[in-house]
Amino acid sequence: MKKVYVLPLVALTLLAGCQNKQPKFQYNVDKFYDLEILRYDVPEFDQLTLQQKQLVYCLSEAALWGRDILFDQNGRYNLRIRRTCEALYLNANANTKANDEFEKFEKYLKRIWFSNGIHHHYSEDKFLPEFTQEWFVTACAEAGVAYDPAILPVMFDPAVMPKRTTAQDGVDLVLNSAGNYYGEGVTQKEAEAWYAAHKDNSPEPLWIGLNSQLVHLTPTLSQGEGASPLGGDGREVLVERVYRVGGLYGEALEHIVYWLNEALRYAENDQQREVLRKLIAFNETGDLRLFNEYCIAWVKDLDSRVDFVNGFTETYTDPLGITGTWESMVNFKDLNATHRTQLISENAQWFEDHSTTDPKYKKEEVKGVSAKVITAAILAGDCYPATPIGINLPNANWIRKEYGSKSVTIDNLMHAYNEAAKGNGFNEEFMIDDEIRALYEQYGALCGDLHTDLHECVGHGSGKLMPCVTKDALKEHASTIEEARADLFGLYYLADPKLVELGLLPNNEAYKAGYYQQMMNGAMTQLVRIEPGKDIEEAHMRNRQLIANWVLEHAENGEVMIIERNDKHYLQIFDYEGLRRLYGELLAEIQRITSEGDYKAAKEMVERYAVKVNPELHQEILARYQQLNLAPYKGFVNPVYTAIRDKEGNISDVRIDFTEGYIEQHLRYSRDYSPLPDVN
Ligand code: ZN
Repeated sequence: MKKVYVLPLVALTLLAGCQNKQPKFQYNVDKFYDLEILRYDVPEFDQLTLQQKQLVYCLSEAALWGRDILFDQNGRYNLRIRRTCEALYLNANANTKANDEFEKFEKYLKRIWFSNGIHHHYSEDKFLPEFTQEWFVTACAEAGVAYDPAILPVMFDPAVMPKRTTAQDGVDLVLNSAGNYYGEGVTQKEAEAWYAAHKDNSPEPLWIGLNSQLVHLTPTLSQGEGASPLGGDGREVLVERVYRVGGLYGEALEHIVYWLNEALRYAENDQQREVLRKLIAFNETGDLRLFNEYCIAWVKDLDSRVDFVNGFTETYTDPLGITGTWESMVNFKDLNATHRTQLISENAQWFEDHSTTDPKYKKEEVKGVSAKVITAAILAGDCYPATPIGINLPNANWIRKEYGSKSVTIDNLMHAYNEAAKGNGFNEEFMIDDEIRALYEQYGALCGDLHTDLHECVGHGSGKLMPCVTKDALKEHASTIEEARADLFGLYYLADPKLVELGLLPNNEAYKAGYYQQMMNGAMTQLVRIEPGKDIEEAHMRNRQLIANWVLEHAENGEVMIIERNDKHYLQIFDYEGLRRLYGELLAEIQRITSEGDYKAAKEMVERYAVKVNPELHQEILARYQQLNLAPYKGFVNPVYTAIRDKEGNISDVRIDFTEGYIEQHLRYSRDYSPLPDVN
């Protein structure tokens, strides 16, 4: 599923983190260009059993050994460039280091680590060094660093490999993308013809091309793998180099397989052993049948506390969207958050019965779902340093349909975003007074969590459609209305004494932090993510603005308004209970629209409140946001796990440490986990 990278505002608005962590944890690590490096805590690691810790350790080793693969997938010169730069960084003489250019060089190297290559991880444009080629060549010579001169134009010439993955109309997408999924000179036409000829159209298809590079057939490769005649003249133009032990990236996959085998010793149950065995066999053979079996086994493993992703997964960097980039994430269930969602879901019927919706739209029997919240233990490959905030896998649609999928949110990363954002000036700029800021500091994250839980565990599952109304009745507005319905359900109950009674909120004031945050974000601050002059497109953003603007327009008794003070606009809530009544009214209407399949009303509602942006307010918000000078992209350093071994060499304990810095970490990974040759 498409990765959602966290932009700064999301940290304050989406699912917030957990409570009661040690206050002194150092979340902010480094900041350069448009990037900020954070550190994440791994709460509950100490409460894992020894066996679970051993498993996390082995899986995290398996994760770290894949780092080189992604560098090479992102561009065939990336490993050479990274290694040359690292060698210069470590061996530069005092004279070189004293030069101002060295500072620019260090920033360039930090950027390479962040992007797993020389293209920006998000825009995919090549970034150019701020130091000159002459300086670089001289510095390398003085440091005795030898390198392949082919890297110079790749690093310094803006015209060479300008884009990692291009989506430009009318150009050859393969030839014009720097990604290394196709050999040199392979054209889009050739690649598409090959995929078309080899596509598996069976009901349980193999994902042909997921784990391979397509290259031109040469005499040395003619006996290679995957070379099967196309038919006709019996000639094949392209041949597949399969990612597997003994094949492409075999040197890294060998280490991964070793650690997956070690993990097998500590697996929690038979199902997890099955997952590991299938993945090992797939890495050894590259056989896509085994990959399907692995995905199915993984979906079925719901009982293990520890879980992981390790392999060729997302396909956005391949210009043709077929080959998977390598990624890994090891995680375990967050029991605290899981308890929270269980409690909410056990009370699903109570919530359904007491909502403001018309009784005829209520479900007689409603079942809550318990959301899975996880704690990330290590991030690697395409999940590192920038990382998604959720996992929704596998990607094969037929497996999702027949066997389901796992969808989880990663609480400790969200918590790190929130903590790191504290004191960045955002709340000081946009929240109206100290009182609400203090309330938000204290309860904002908890309210964010609970709102998300209510939205996911009971909101989406509530209500019913009238007979004859089909699911797609609201057409292009269905997702905005559906998200608004779930959000309003959550907002309405956030202020309910029931939450205090259940022990989910500490008092009857805390919810106000969540109410203020929703209104401020929906009406104002989420606009920082919209370019000037553009409409709001994304369903969740539309839903948030719909709710906020509808409420502002219907707050006839001044319950809530946007006021002006010193030429700046702020949201002010005068009557929280009145605001709750308005949320309840809108919930009833949105439920009616959904239950009746009232397309006309949905369209009017969305067009009136959700899409258009007030241009003056937008400009003001953007200007105020810009002067805060926040880095729009975040990434992480990992904790360091150390295995303590007994005399027989068995792991007797696993220690976790959070002190490693960004530069140290990458230099260590490059030293200890870099098995691939320069040219693959
Ligand atoms: Zn939703």
